[in-house]
Amino acid sequence: MNPMTTAATAMRHPEPPTTPGLGRVYNFSAGPACMPETVLAQLRDEITDFDGSGMGLLELSHRGPAYDRILADAFASVRACAGVGADWEVLFLPGGSMQHFSLIAMNFVPTAKAGAEQPWVAFADTGLWSHKGEKETACVRPTKKVFDGATCRFDHVPSDAEIADCTGAAYFAYCSNNTVEGTQFGRPPHVAAPLVCDATSDIFSRPFDLNAHALLFASGQKNLGASGITMVLVKKSFLERADTSLPPMLSYANFAKTESRPNTPPTFGVRVIGLMAQWTHEFGGPAAFGPRNAAKAAHIYKAIDGSGGFYRPSMRADCRSDMSISFQLPSDAHVDRFVAEAESEGLCGLRGHREWGGIRACVYNAFPAKGCEVLADFMGAFAKRNG
Ligand code: PMP
Repeated sequence: MNPMTTAATAMRHPEPPTTPGLGRVYNFSAGPACMPETVLAQLRDEITDFDGSGMGLLELSHRGPAYDRILADAFASVRACAGVGADWEVLFLPGGSMQHFSLIAMNFVPTAKAGAEQPWVAFADTGLWSHKGEKETACVRPTKKVFDGATCRFDHVPSDAEIADCTGAAYFAYCSNNTVEGTQFGRPPHVAAPLVCDATSDIFSRPFDLNAHALLFASGQKNLGASGITMVLVKKSFLERADTSLPPMLSYANFAKTESRPNTPPTFGVRVIGLMAQWTHEFGGPAAFGPRNAAKAAHIYKAIDGSGGFYRPSMRADCRSDMSISFQLPSDAHVDRFVAEAESEGLCGLRGHREWGGIRACVYNAFPAKGCEVLADFMGAFAKRNG
């Protein structure tokens, strides 16, 4: 845990603002998602003039002193939020999370020497993104499902006892928050393989034992800002095992060696991650956001539970996510009406994932608490009118 973000220090941090500024809606989108207005305002100013340099943010050379500072700030803010020390590398890579499923396998699963057994990747298939992740991984290395969520319609994430033996796996891959289905791991699983976590939709949202992992990755469009960039946190001891014969642009070791600029990096995305991490840290970091996010989500779960079965969550109550709240309505027509009426009241981005249906409210760190109360009130009134 980051000593700078303990509950005690978090108490001293003010709450993030709870009402959207004039002309803004409550944006429940899964991603790209809502960002803090102060960060947006800073980016707006920096686009035309970065820190009095006479150059806009998008015009700065990635080898110049201004970008040196941007990169150093981003590394420092991410480290402060993550609470990771010098035994970890922080990397920023172009592209989304999806690229990393195959990249991680190429980097960390050696191809077997003749006659030797090919190492494999253990996968917990807990939802759409881990399912897709396994498919991506299987393009380059063998995988084995050690938990198959399809057998329980993805209604929960597995306990340790439900995960098949991972002995011999190069690593165990799982997704800490299932953005589509609305389930979330309460803590990292205990398995007999290094943990690799897709934390795209709940990074920095709560205290979580990052140190239990070998590697975590998260793309930008949720708690880290802009899409099209991915942050990787990797333990140096794990990175030492990486295949260094890969093309350099696919090699995590090369990104570590070059401080994430082996070529022209996504400079804007790095700045956005830096500002998002700085904002998260200023408001108390994961330790402060954990209870705040739980309280936000509780408003919506209360509306679900109080609806007499009108709103139907598909997940077990003990696995409910505080980031992505997903539920079904009695019919598709109800969903269409819900989405249209909500939108007319400034509650936007609520339609569920196209492969899951229903309604989904994503309430990432920057989503204001007030918006959850407003949605809960809307849900109560809608259920009364349509139940
Ligand atoms: N993993 C999770 C948990 C996600 O929520 C998403 C996107 N919503 C992805 C992976 C894919 O991310 P990207 O689009 O950046 O590849």
